Amino acid sequence: MMQIMQQLSSHIHYLTPYQETDRPILAAITGTRSTLLVDAGNSSAHIQFFIDQLVKLDISPRWVVLTHWHWDHVFGMNQANTTIIAQTLTTEYIRRMQKWTWNDESLDQRVAEGTEIEFCSSAIKKELGDERDIILPTPDITFERKLELDLGRVHCVIEHVGGDHSDDSTVVYVEEDKVLFVGDALYPNIHVEPHEYTAEATLQLVDMLRQYDAETVVLSHHADIWDGARYQQELNLLEQIARLVQEPDLEEQAIAKQLAQHYGRELDDYERETITLFINGRRRQQNREPVTESGI
Ligand SMILES: [Zn+2]
Repeated sequence: MMQIMQQLSSHIHYLTPYQETDRPILAAITGTRSTLLVDAGNSSAHIQFFIDQLVKLDISPRWVVLTHWHWDHVFGMNQANTTIIAQTLTTEYIRRMQKWTWNDESLDQRVAEGTEIEFCSSAIKKELGDERDIILPTPDITFERKLELDLGRVHCVIEHVGGDHSDDSTVVYVEEDKVLFVGDALYPNIHVEPHEYTAEATLQLVDMLRQYDAETVVLSHHADIWDGARYQQELNLLEQIARLVQEPDLEEQAIAKQLAQHYGRELDDYERETITLFINGRRRQQNREPVTESGI
């Protein structure tokens, strides 16, 4: 397994992500009194590997906060052996998920009926192999909007920000280090076909995120850590496109043209793809198609 421990700042260590089985970044924020983990990983093996590395550094976690309820961020919860903190919706979705079964048959059935996506189903099979006794405890502490945690000379703000990827998305800001963990909050909704962003949810999200003076930004499935400039660039891109797509008569090509004018250069592939994701969201909303209740 090609996952390695990295030190991000004087208080933060993290384990790099692993695309093959959709393992997100796991982080540990350490103060003089206690350590907070960001996310519980996609299996017992995943979180245990991280904890083993932390033990070598003489760090023992006391809390874990879940950035959202998706399987790859919560399946290691029980093995973490810490107090579990989650947003109201996250806890609600975990309670719902406690009733599900995870054998091939159940997964295939949920994919067939559209409550699960193939991408997650195959990653779950790969990560968990044949022994899938998944224990999902109910989080110990549930908060609605915001929670502040004093780890001892290190202060964390945990806040619900929502967004298209998952409406329970929560970020963790480490004040002393100006590090922001955004989880999957900046990613599009991948549980509808085609994948999409919506203008309203994105503008709200960008507004929430702008409150934080972030110099270092961690996206759960990005191996590269963003600096403040790269992060601002992303927020600006999302905001610009969201505003343009709100004009119902502005077609994809026209939006691309206006954005290119705004930047004073040609758009790259990533920017073009982002426009397409917003067009998908607008199209679905115009056709009044509901978002399919997706399992994961
Ligand atoms: Zn996710």
